[in-house]
Amino acid sequence: MLQSVFCRLSRIPRVRRYSAAAAIPAPSTQPDIHFNKIFINNEWHDAVSKKTFPTINPTTGEIICQVAEGDKADVEKAVKAAKDAFKLGSPWRLTDASARGLLLNRLADLIERDKAYLASLETLDNGKPYHIAYMVDLDLVIKCIRYYAGWADKYHGKTIPIDGDYFCYTRHEPVGVCGQIIPWNFPLAMQSWKLGPALATGNVVVMKLAEQTPLTALYVASLIKEAGFPPGVVNIIPGYGPSAGAAIAAHMDVDKVAFTGSTEVGHLIQQAAGKSNLKKVTLELGGKSPNIILSDADVNFAVEEAHTALFFNQGQCCCAGTRTYVQEAIYDQFVEQSVERAKRRTVGDPFDAKNEQGPQVDEEQFNKILGYISTGKKEGAKLLCGGEVAADRGYFIQPTVFGDVKDEMRIAREEIFGPVMQILKFKTLEEVIERANDTKYGLAAAVFTNDINKAHYISHGLRVGTVWINCYDIFGAQAPFGGYKASGNGRELGEDGLAAYTEVKTVTTKVLKKNS
Ligand code: NAD
Ligand code: MG
Repeated sequence: MLQSVFCRLSRIPRVRRYSAAAAIPAPSTQPDIHFNKIFINNEWHDAVSKKTFPTINPTTGEIICQVAEGDKADVEKAVKAAKDAFKLGSPWRLTDASARGLLLNRLADLIERDKAYLASLETLDNGKPYHIAYMVDLDLVIKCIRYYAGWADKYHGKTIPIDGDYFCYTRHEPVGVCGQIIPWNFPLAMQSWKLGPALATGNVVVMKLAEQTPLTALYVASLIKEAGFPPGVVNIIPGYGPSAGAAIAAHMDVDKVAFTGSTEVGHLIQQAAGKSNLKKVTLELGGKSPNIILSDADVNFAVEEAHTALFFNQGQCCCAGTRTYVQEAIYDQFVEQSVERAKRRTVGDPFDAKNEQGPQVDEEQFNKILGYISTGKKEGAKLLCGGEVAADRGYFIQPTVFGDVKDEMRIAREEIFGPVMQILKFKTLEEVIERANDTKYGLAAAVFTNDINKAHYISHGLRVGTVWINCYDIFGAQAPFGGYKASGNGRELGEDGLAAYTEVKTVTTKVLKKNS
């Protein structure tokens, strides 16, 4: 979920790199919190239950503020507001497609205006380094919303030459009330990936934020109002998954649900849709993505890319390159250099520009990752560096590299979602394709080689939604992203991302003979 601006930064000449860094405004290390309630009908509400929950600063473990805790009753209110906003003849339904594009462009402009504030707030609530939040996350968000603004009056149907004297055409119509449940690893980016296509195509939205990171998306809610979207078009609920999230997935008046998060919860969402109204479901779930380094690759380059593929965003990426397969001829050299690179990785205060890595998002993830590190040791993988807590407060973990990893080990099969690299050795292309595909997941993969034939041979053999060749984590709003197998259903981004937010209506008219 990131455009690899960071990787690219490391490749541009020193002078340009300096001026790019200088273009980042100083963060506000204690940004004011303006919004901590539920956003329904363009107004702020306490939870019906009056309950609140704390959101934590993962750098210190301290509470930032209390946030209204939405649950089923608040989902009811939000769905009603969304339904009203979607009624035939409502201001939103009467908004021209081009005007929807204008509203989205205005929203992108407002996010751009407040970019430094939003990046600071994201760093405070999520723990990701400020310079990455500013350069990568916010950049992706703004571009994604502008990209879908452009689609608003261009995603049209067809005229179809069916047999007989008929005029047949299709219309791309909004699905209706879209439930959207987003995760904490890229809070703003995930919000934009979901809002962009939904609003461009004229839907209304009830979005549930991740309980770990509600603050930035709530601020964006205020910008949605400022941009001029009519009340009820976007409704945003902070709260927990099993209450607010489950209420959206099971709601009889929610026409579609889009979810990003764990595969475990993906199963629950699909079941809830099946048990309720068969709402349409798109899922973007976990992964255990293979990153395949062939012996003819430029080793220095591949080491740096593989490092970023795994450690970017504290390792909290659905598409992280977590199974680094290295061909035997360069295995020893690659391992040695990867360990050396991981040891050089700077971990600490995410507001300090010298740090590449901040804390994990919360205590639960922190403990889960440390649990996987001890599992790896018990399973007999070779711990080559890291493996420990990296600070005396907050949720920091040392960059960790395991070598001699075997496919059957849990650390090679399960999603760790942390700064823990697994390096595995392989001999032949056929072998590595089979081993790479031997997983329930199928989100992404990469191949590093200087032989284009080998690159495409491997790429075609992999059962994954995205393959990067000699690069990693390159995202563009224009290119679809999503998973094979248990990594998800459907695609987000690009033109393909619009399909999930539209129904295709076929209209057929008898062409009557004109009496002369
Ligand atoms: P999660 O799946 O529990 O949370 C994602 C979102 O789903 C959150 O908004 C959460 O509140 C909501 N949710 C939780 N239970 C729900 C339910 N029963 N019904 C509806 N919505 C529900 O993920 P997590 O517990 O925060 O993290 C666990 C693991 O999931 C991570 O370690 C990682 O492996 C994976 N994960 C993947 C992604 C991704 O980008 N694909 C993002 C976050 C986490
Ligand atoms: Mg959870």
